[in-house]
Order: sequence, then structure tokens, then C-alpha cells
Amino acid sequence: MNPYAESAERVALRKAVADLAAGYGRGYFSERARAGEKTTDLWADMGKHGYLGVAVPEEYGGGGGGIGDLAAVCEELATAGCPLLLMVVSPAICATVIARFGTDEQKQRWLPGFADGTRTMAFSITEPDAGSNAHKITTTGRRDGDDWLLTGRKTYISGVDEAESVLVVARTEDARTGRLQPALFVVPTDAPGFEWKPIAMDLLSPERQFTLFFDDVRLPANALVGAEGAGIAQLFAGLNPERIMAASFSTGLGRFALRRATEYVKTREVFGAPIGSHQALAHPLAQSHIEIELARLMTQRAAALYDAGDDAAAGEAANMAKYAAAEAACTVVDRAIQAHGGNGLASEYGLASLLAATRAGRIAPVSREMVLNFVAMHSLGLPKSY
Ligand SMILES: Cc1cc2nc3c(=O)[nH]c(=O)nc-3n(C[C@H](O)[C@H](O)[C@H](O)COP(=O)(O)OP(=O)(O)OC[C@H]3O[C@@H](n4cnc5c(N)ncnc54)[C@H](O)[C@@H]3O)c2cc1C
Repeated sequence: MNPYAESAERVALRKAVADLAAGYGRGYFSERARAGEKTTDLWADMGKHGYLGVAVPEEYGGGGGGIGDLAAVCEELATAGCPLLLMVVSPAICATVIARFGTDEQKQRWLPGFADGTRTMAFSITEPDAGSNAHKITTTGRRDGDDWLLTGRKTYISGVDEAESVLVVARTEDARTGRLQPALFVVPTDAPGFEWKPIAMDLLSPERQFTLFFDDVRLPANALVGAEGAGIAQLFAGLNPERIMAASFSTGLGRFALRRATEYVKTREVFGAPIGSHQALAHPLAQSHIEIELARLMTQRAAALYDAGDDAAAGEAANMAKYAAAEAACTVVDRAIQAHGGNGLASEYGLASLLAATRAGRIAPVSREMVLNFVAMHSLGLPKSY
């Protein structure tokens, strides 16, 4: 098989998702976001067709594919102007962690709902005082008989109002050594002691961000994902899919902006010829096409490495893909707006709202500086700078 071409199944999946998403489109997405409404009908439609569950194992009702398939779904949705942030979180991070590390009971309970999209789980690691330094998180689970009591705070957590539960990255105390070690808990969004408040964001999106407060939230023993002490491995299993999905989200938005700009410059005439005949406009768009295609290639490579079980190589590729995709997306949105002149800032053309959406890709789920730190240290062997 040609390693540089996607399989016929993947290509067909892309087309099917693109066809479905075209029935919704940017207008639908923006109107819902402006009205403070959700895109639940799109999510349900995607779930019904099995597109949200392409990477869930077949025995739990999923498609049995890999993260490369799920990333293709995410990219095609964004390319149609309907980027769904919850795709990065619920079916990618949460379903992957539970499928790889959950107990049999947890898999039975959660995976069928991930497969058909009827269950949505948010993911929370970011804390106000720790930020990019995940080693500093302080949300802690303490044993209380057979139960756990969870206390702490998280911030910028997406989609909590749409989720049934949140996968919370916390710490537990090792009873023998007293040392804190990472542990992942599933916390229902209606658990007593758990409060969440929306953060006012200047992002045009139906999906919102929240600050979470856990005040001695009582959780049953089986709220802890998998075995005690497996938290680090679980976290790493979730982070590569997260970066690959974030990269797809960005390349999709980039393709959307590039297509809009290309169509526009072909027809808009100011000096008696389409403005796309001026190299000052054509070359930046051509550059963006190259940048987006390079980022897509790296994203597919990262997904292929991950799906082949090479977590270490996937880690480097996923970071590089996320970086390249975010840069390509930010750049093309700026160029697309410029090519539209005044129309670039009009709501009707749907581009200005992408400034913040693509900009978020440089910050989350891991900032561009932290990716550069990773590459400097791990790829180039340079000393740690922080
Ligand atoms: C739209 C959106 C959705 C999000 N959704 C989620 C979610 O669902 N779940 C979740 O857990 N989190 C979520 N986040 C949080 C996101 O992951 C964090 O914002 C991100 O990891 C950066 O952390 P921070 O905001 O605390 O920035 P900080 O860590 O405070 O960093 C601020 C700046 O300093 C730079 N910096 C920090 N340390 C270094 C260093 N050592 N070297 C060089 N530069 C450095 C950073 O790169 C950044 O530019 C979301 C964020 C956004 C914007």
C-alpha cells in the first residue's frame, strides 16, 4: 500500500462526512452560536451515522478504526465550517483512555455511548495556578472508606454544559509513601459539590468554556479510571489523540478559509480582471495551500504512528502536526480576510469569527511555545530551558 495515500475506506469516510456536514454548513453553525444555541442536532446526526464512534472498538458498537479515521471526521466537519471542539475531547481523549485503560465494567458502561454519540464526556486537566505546567496540578482525590472525595479547581474546560460527565485529571496520595500520583476520575456533571461556571469568551462557538470547582465531591470507587497508579500512562494515551485531533480541527478550518478566499478572488473584479489574477493575492493563497497540505501530511503521519502503537514517535509527530496546523490556519484566515477586503470583516462571509477560533489552536491544548520546548529538548537534544 502507498504509505502517502489514505485508504479507500478513509477517503469514502471523508466524503460521507463532508456530504453530511454540507447540509449544515457555516451559516447553521454561526447562527446557532450567535443565538447561544447548541449544535446538538448535528452531533446526533453524526452519532447516528457512526461517525463519532469510528475509533471505538467494534465489540462496543464502534467502527473499530483508529484515531486517523476520527481525525478525518473532525477535519471534514471543520472544512464544512462546523468545527466541533467536543470531538477533540469526548470521542478522542475520553473514549481512547477508557478503551485502553478502563475496567471491563467501565468499558461496558461508557463505550457504547461514545460509539453512537449519545454520551458526551468533557476533559479537564488545566488548572488556574498550574497552566502549562501539568506537574503542578493540585486537584486531589482522597480515600474515604470505599469512596473518593475530590477537591480542586479547573479552568477553560470545554463543553461541560453539554456533557454528562467530566474526565478529571487529578492526583491521589500513595498510602505507603504519601507521594501524590496522577489519577483520572469520571465525575458526573450533576454530582453534589461540583459547580461549574461559564467563562465569557470572545469566540463564536456553540461550545463554551467553564471554570470547575470540586468541593469534597463524593465519588464511588469505580469513578477512578482503570487501576490505581496507572494515571501517567493513561494521560499520555489521551494526549497524542488530543493533539492529532486539534491539528485536524485547524487544518479543517484552514481549508474552509482557503476555499472561501479562492472562490472569492476568482469572481471579484476591481480593475477589470478577477483580483485572483494579481500575484499579490494569488501567491499568499498558494503558500497557504502548501502550508495546509504539509500540516495535513504530518497529521496523518502522527495518526498512523499512533494507530500502529508507536506512542513515542507519535508524540513527536503529533506535537509537530499540531504546531504546523495551527500556524497554517492562523495565516490562511488572515490572508483570506485580506483577499476579501471589507467583506472579510462582514458577518455574512464568515471569516472574521475564525480569527479567534484559529488563534485558539496556537494556545490549546498545548501552546506553541511548549511544543517548541518539546522539539528543542526531545528532537534536538537541547537543554531544558524552564
Ligand atoms: C478555547 C479553549 C478551549 C480549551 N479547552 C480545554 C479543555 O477542554 N480542557 C482543558 O483541560 N483545558 C482546556 N483549555 C486550556 C488550554 O489547554 C490552556 O489554555 C493551555 O494549555 C495553556 O495554558 P494557560 O492558558 O494556563 O497558559 P499559561 O501556561 O499561563 O501560558 C501563558 C503563555 O506563557 C507561555 N509559556 C508558559 N511556560 C512557558 C515556558 N516554559 N517556555 C515558553 N513559554 C511558556 C505559554 O506558551 C503561553 O504563551 C482550553 C483553552 C482554550 C483557549
